[in-house]
Amino acid sequence: MIKELCIGASMAVLIFLIIMGQNVIPLLLLAGLGFFLYMLMDKKGLVSSSQFAGYNSQVDFNFDDIGGQAPAKQELKEALDFVLHAGKITEMGIRPLKGILLTGPPGTGKTLLAKAAAAYTRSVFMATSGSEFIEVYAGVGAQRVRQLFKAAKERATKEKKDGAIIFVDEIDVLGSQRGSNTGHMEYDQTLNQLLVEMDGVNNDDQVRILVVGATNREDMLDPALLRPGRFDRIVRVDLPDKAARLHILEIHCRNKPLADNVSLEDIAQESFGFSGAHLESVANEAAILALRENSSLIHQHHFKEAVDKVMMGEKIDRKPNDDERYRIAVHETGHALISELNRPGSVSHITVTTRGRALGYMRVIPEDDIYLYTRDYLEQQIQICLAGAVAEKIILNSQSTGASNDFNEAIKCTRQIITAGLSSLGVVWEDIIPRECYHKEVQEIISQQEKIVVGLLNSKLKALKEIARLLVDQEYISGDELREKIKEREVIN
Ligand code: ATP
Repeated sequence: MIKELCIGASMAVLIFLIIMGQNVIPLLLLAGLGFFLYMLMDKKGLVSSSQFAGYNSQVDFNFDDIGGQAPAKQELKEALDFVLHAGKITEMGIRPLKGILLTGPPGTGKTLLAKAAAAYTRSVFMATSGSEFIEVYAGVGAQRVRQLFKAAKERATKEKKDGAIIFVDEIDVLGSQRGSNTGHMEYDQTLNQLLVEMDGVNNDDQVRILVVGATNREDMLDPALLRPGRFDRIVRVDLPDKAARLHILEIHCRNKPLADNVSLEDIAQESFGFSGAHLESVANEAAILALRENSSLIHQHHFKEAVDKVMMGEKIDRKPNDDERYRIAVHETGHALISELNRPGSVSHITVTTRGRALGYMRVIPEDDIYLYTRDYLEQQIQICLAGAVAEKIILNSQSTGASNDFNEAIKCTRQIITAGLSSLGVVWEDIIPRECYHKEVQEIISQQEKIVVGLLNSKLKALKEIARLLVDQEYISGDELREKIKEREVIN
């Protein structure tokens, strides 16, 4: 703000001098030199600690605003209780908690947890990211670490708070194993400075500083950071399960007008594998879609489309020609028929709309979250993957490049079968099985499943052809409509 005011005032003075007929060139040269020096100091991290002012955010956020993550919240709260009851801790001779590390996939709420931790402990919250410390100049990162700790203490004192939480996102950038960044003394110095600052935290400090680090790459961290006395609490923040997804959706729909037909539970069921950030995006996109349609309420179909958008990307205005469109329809119908035959009620919808890199797609309603797979389950997944290409071959007598992704997925499932010791090879170590032997097993599993798919699709030929035609005409078939059509054709077949 002050910077903008200064620039504005200088411009006004300059214009005034020009109007008065004064020679402003020496003044401009002087200003240029001043600006250059300022930039140089800024780059070297030498501008006062007020540069961290921007990192501070007043936190009005608590653990109830975070969906799911019950174990992480519980563990974090337990750790924070040590900070809250510092007096007792000193009496018992317990050393202060200096660091908590939050690990987990992107978008799972690590930043939110750190913010809630600040509110819970009535501390100021300073957020920064590991990458902000790394500069080409040696020593700048270390200088910034010192400034950050100093700024945190100053701010807490100014705001009359007992503590400060310094949140370092992407701490792996700053705290990756020393020596791993070849020729980069800068990284090592910065990490050393962080360790020094953390070691300097004491129970009797006027302002208690707690460093909360977040990373998706715990394996990259220098062991010195993880040793007791530094980040000795590691809190795992996982992708949400179904109940947690529902909770997150409910939180993000609190301020949105929902129609009566909206079942957030169904959306939670369909969004297996989504992070909190994905779910926030689903709620937001659903509202945008409703607005586009001039609807005052958000309906279930807006949410369904929002899930597609978050999963596959934005609709693309690419129109395949008629032959291609029919081929895509046959391909997707093949996937859908096998999915329904294996698990009735499993298809959410099929479409020939181009989205992201997919020319069409079939979306399934995942079973209740499952984390262990049997061989039968994996074989069924392989069948669904192969069904698109098999359907093309049966109806159009040829295959296309559209199936390459499906084959990759099928191979992944096959690998899972082999590495989990579920194949005819028994328990094996993937790295030392002879390549031919491995290849033969993969081929065998795939061709067995392909035979099954050929048989199943041939028995549903009429349904396959007619539903594919219908899909070309309608562009979209819902799971319920698909099941109805299969039933009707079963009578005719
Ligand atoms: P990254 O590792 O990429 O930095 P992160 O784990 O720190 O991600 P956040 O920044 O905390 O993730 O979350 C991003 C956004 O996702 C939040 O602003 C929020 O809208 C939403 N979100 C994520 N997790 C949750 C949750 N558990 N409850 C509610 N909202 C969530």
